[in-house]
Amino acid sequence: MPNALVTGASSGIGRTFARTLAARGYDIVAVARDKQRLDQLAEELQRAHGTTVEVLPADLCDPAQLATVEERLVREPAVDLLVNNAGLGAQTRFVDYDVDAIEGEIRLNVLALTRLARAALPVMVTRGTGGVINVSSFASFQPAPLFAVYTATKAYVTNFTESLHEELRGSGVKIVALCPGFTRTEFQDRNGVDATRVPALAWSSADDVVADALRALERGQAVCLPGLPNKLVAGFSHLLPRAAVRRTVGALAKRL
Ligand code: NAP
Repeated sequence: MPNALVTGASSGIGRTFARTLAARGYDIVAVARDKQRLDQLAEELQRAHGTTVEVLPADLCDPAQLATVEERLVREPAVDLLVNNAGLGAQTRFVDYDVDAIEGEIRLNVLALTRLARAALPVMVTRGTGGVINVSSFASFQPAPLFAVYTATKAYVTNFTESLHEELRGSGVKIVALCPGFTRTEFQDRNGVDATRVPALAWSSADDVVADALRALERGQAVCLPGLPNKLVAGFSHLLPRAAVRRTVGALAKRL
């Protein structure tokens, strides 16, 4: 049985990864802070597909707890697929954002994701097989006022992943940056994001995002941008000067 370690498996895109991968025959190592929700997921997947689910509760902002997940990545049974998904992104003016909360966002979105990739990849390279999905965001492609820390952390994730994609070429190990746009999960409620004026057309389901990501990984793509509207906006904004994009996003942020 192939084995996938999914961070942020208690909710949203991570839980959908766990469900989809279990349905495709993977055993799952499920990581998040909420043990009760992970236990419920484990029971559901065991019942539905006979999946073996290792529940590994951990706060990835805590160095000691992060280390337990890193240790799992170098232990047997080997992890074939790492889904580096746990993330957060508060909507706030930077000057109002609590400095410890800023550090937590950077620890989770950047440091934990990097350390977990660093733990998983040497094992995969030695075996000559494996995959990593780093969950970034559509927001990684342009500045986003009121999400200054978030968009910067996600720019890191996309850039980091594209660099690794080239470093790993020919190694048998695949890596992709998943860059979803607005996706219906708990993200908006948890992070105080007011998405009431976001048009219906701009939203994706977690199921579609995960299906696109797994297809992109299979095809050996470096970046996966799910949803036609997101692809069109990203394509168009790449044609514009950076200053024009920044000013447009700034004006939109004020209106929203
Ligand atoms: P979500 O429903 O809020 O899920 C976030 C997950 O991260 C939860 O399982 C949460 O579990 C886990 N998590 C949060 N803090 C953690 C910590 N300190 N340690 C370990 N786990 C932690 O949001 P989502 O939309 O599925 O987000 C998943 C990823 O997609 C994130 O990286 C996000 O940036 C990205 N993304 C989302 C959207 C969107 O519109 N939804 C768009 C672009 C990118 P616990 O609370 O149990 O720890």
